[in-house]
Amino acid sequence: MIKIADLKPRTLMGPGPSDVHPRVLRAMAQPTIGHMDGQFMQVLDDIRDMLKAVFQTSNDLTLAISGTGMAGMEACLVNLLEPGDAFLVCINGVFSARLKEVAERIGARVTAIRVPWGQVFTPAMVQVALEQHGPFKLVGLVHVETSTGALQPIKDISAVVHAAGSLLLVDTVASLSGVEAAVDDWQIDACYSGSQKCLSSPPGLAMATFSPAAVHAITHRNTPIGSWYFDMMLLRKYWGSERVYHHTPPVNLYFALHEALSMALEEGLPSRWARHQAAHAALKTGLARLGIGYLTDPGCIAPTLNCVAAPAGIDEAAGRKQLLNEFGIEVGAGLGDFKGKAWRIGLMGEGADQRHVDALLSALTVIAPKG
Ligand SMILES: *Cc1c(COP(=O)(O)O)cnc(C)c1O
Repeated sequence: MIKIADLKPRTLMGPGPSDVHPRVLRAMAQPTIGHMDGQFMQVLDDIRDMLKAVFQTSNDLTLAISGTGMAGMEACLVNLLEPGDAFLVCINGVFSARLKEVAERIGARVTAIRVPWGQVFTPAMVQVALEQHGPFKLVGLVHVETSTGALQPIKDISAVVHAAGSLLLVDTVASLSGVEAAVDDWQIDACYSGSQKCLSSPPGLAMATFSPAAVHAITHRNTPIGSWYFDMMLLRKYWGSERVYHHTPPVNLYFALHEALSMALEEGLPSRWARHQAAHAALKTGLARLGIGYLTDPGCIAPTLNCVAAPAGIDEAAGRKQLLNEFGIEVGAGLGDFKGKAWRIGLMGEGADQRHVDALLSALTVIAPKG
């Protein structure tokens, strides 16, 4: 049997989880308290207030969800969509494709538009789809598509979506606090993220926020919300002043998220975005010296997820294994269209610094010397 205490530490530079700061780990080791304890109510209130700051929103319905990033996706879709509702999804990778899968299981009528992997959508592309196939209740996009490293501009598409009378859903799992994601300014109606990416909290929690228009859509459904566990109208009675028990949240993960959010806000969002950008620039320069380039379209490269061509002259999977076993560095494999071709290098949260970049670059000079 493996001894947990003997696990080798890793340098996490994959698509998540990212390295967790000792402050966050210590917060998580705090003795467990009850989920109806007045102290925990304060923890929840703080988390809601800090999430509003990080999402840059004044939405009242802003909360953490017990479950990973995918729980955030399911929660948003199952609350907003009813069987038969029209949903337009913009697919440019694995996670946007999951939006379609989840919505289909809800029974929504899903229309998909696609661009090749590594690219993003223009407002004109969305406009055409809205005109040809609309009206849609909801339009879904992924901000940073973790399978391709593409950063999708949101603001101009949001204008087109709202002009057509639709609501906008955005996945910010791989972007929130690593690159700007401004929910109110960009008029995002439903937005979700995950704890273990740019916020560097352990995996296990999602975060979500719903605009007043999204809440209106939820409260004016014809059918009950298709999930009891993710029913936002029940959850808001626990997060709000009623404090009605819904489920027992993983209390210690909430402690960790509280500390991670505190750290993000102590740093300040603009400084945090700049730190991610600087780490990305350093990595990009260093990789170029080794002859390693990006698979993502040059106009839309996300700083948080660097999807690069696997180094030439070495076996892609063996190279990743060597990085992990000899250098303790984890990078991600390519998915879908990029399987066997890509390495996905995350620079997220605690991992977005020169120390991580240097560790990877120096390991690469050993395992994949420029040849
Ligand atoms: C990681 C990720 C998810 C899924 O999150 P899990 O925590 O693995 O459930 C969803 N969307 C994007 C863009 C992601 O990067």
